[in-house]
Parts: sequence; C-alpha cells; structure tokens
Amino acid sequence: MAESGGVGRVRPLVAANPGPLTLDGTRTYVVGGDPCLIIDPGPDLGDHLDAIEVTLGSARVAAICITHHHADHAAGAAELRLRLAAPLAAAPDSAALAGLEPPEIPLRPGGRIDFDAGHLVVVFAPGHCPDHVCFHWPEARALFAGDVIMGEGTSMVAPPEGDMAAYMTTLERLAGLETEVIYPGHGPMIQSAAEKIEEYIAHRRSREQQVVAALAGGAATPAAIRARVYEDLDPRLHRAAEGSVLAHLAKLVSEGRVKLEGDRYLPAGPEERP
Ligand SMILES: [Zn+2]
Repeated sequence: MAESGGVGRVRPLVAANPGPLTLDGTRTYVVGGDPCLIIDPGPDLGDHLDAIEVTLGSARVAAICITHHHADHAAGAAELRLRLAAPLAAAPDSAALAGLEPPEIPLRPGGRIDFDAGHLVVVFAPGHCPDHVCFHWPEARALFAGDVIMGEGTSMVAPPEGDMAAYMTTLERLAGLETEVIYPGHGPMIQSAAEKIEEYIAHRRSREQQVVAALAGGAATPAAIRARVYEDLDPRLHRAAEGSVLAHLAKLVSEGRVKLEGDRYLPAGPEERP
C-alpha cells in the first residue's frame, strides 16, 4: 500500500480488534520484500494471521518483531511463529511477559535487524510499559512506534505499568532520530514525524503544568485533580484520565516537587507552593 522513501514497501494490516484504546484495531506491518519483516503480529485472531500469510505470499520472513508484550500486539506471535517457522525478534522481557517462548533474536537497545530493504535499529522506549521498544528504519527515515505514538489522540501512560518520566525521556530520544514518517501501532501513518513528536512532548508538558496548577489550587487527590484538568470529560473515561494524572503525580513526587501525605498530594518545592 504505502511506499516508504522508495527503499521498500510497508504494507499495513488492521486487526479486527477495535476499541477505545486500540482505535480501529492494531496495525501489523509487513515491511520490505524478500526477506521481509513482520512488525507486531497483533492479537491471536485466525483471520488476521491468515491475512498476514496472504500478504507475505512466498516471501521469506527474516523476523517477527514485537514492540511490547501487550496482547493486542504480541499474542498472535506464538501461532504465527509456528505457521511461518520464522524467528521471533523481541526483548526477552516482552517475550516472557507475553507468555511466548524465548526469542531466537533477543533485542537490546541499539541492536539491528537486517532485511531486504535495509535494517531496523532497536530503540529503547519505556513509558507506556517498561519493556517497550520502537524500531527505527534509517534507510526509509521511518519509525515503527508501537504504542508510544498513536495515529490519533495520545498514548496511554498510567501506573502501574506506565511511567511518565520514562515516557518523556523516550519522546526526547525519538525526537533525536532522523525520521520523516511514523507507523504507529494504532491509527493512520503520520507524515510529519518531527512535528508529531514535538506535539506529544508539548502536550505532556502542558498537562504537567495543569496538574501542578490544580495542586496549587488545592486539589489533592487524583479524582479532584482530574476534575480540574479534564473538564466535562465523559464519565466512562474518568478512570483512564485519573491513571494519567497519577502518572504525572508519580513523576512530580520522584522529582521532589510534590509530596504524598496519606492519600493527599501536596506541593513540595518552593516554586510549586501557592
Ligand atoms: Zn500497549
């Protein structure tokens, strides 16, 4: 479907698992020709795995790569590995957390995966969850972002798995890569990579400022802060929003800018006091 920088094909396949967090469904990417790579096999849905096989045709698969352990990205890997007799390229933690056999190609930050259209570089990308990696494809100036960047809206960063400080560091790391195009794990391809990453960083910084302002204004619990920061929010999204508030609070506590007394969060640093 989409050509990427003229150096190789990227064929996206959308799994039939739509939802509030998965948008229209998880995107699996078949990248390159022969041998190609599969990035995020997606959920363990027979029809989806069939569609991947049809897309591959007779091409060899250099590796089945996974960005992180969540079932909507990785669960299909077990069955696909058997069907294709292809090696799994995953961080050892991702494979273990996903209940997969240990990977034939254990991924480490800075590691590379070769295929017919160049190579992918493994980029350490915790924040959404601790085991997350992204894949940078220098020849195409492209990034496979998993759940770090979404095609629409923002990524879920909430405790216990989510870590806002780690997430911000990850965004800064991604901003340092030469990238024009982002292929997210959910939602459409992003054509202006640098602008999107800057937008994500600005969004989280402004949310953090809103949380600090709510604390200074006397809101002391995640629910009270959520009510000030996210006005008129659909009640079904309150829990998700409070998770995000908690992630910001944990970052502020770790930086010494906020203290937790009992179940109340209070400004700690001089600049944070009202
Ligand atoms: Zn995820």
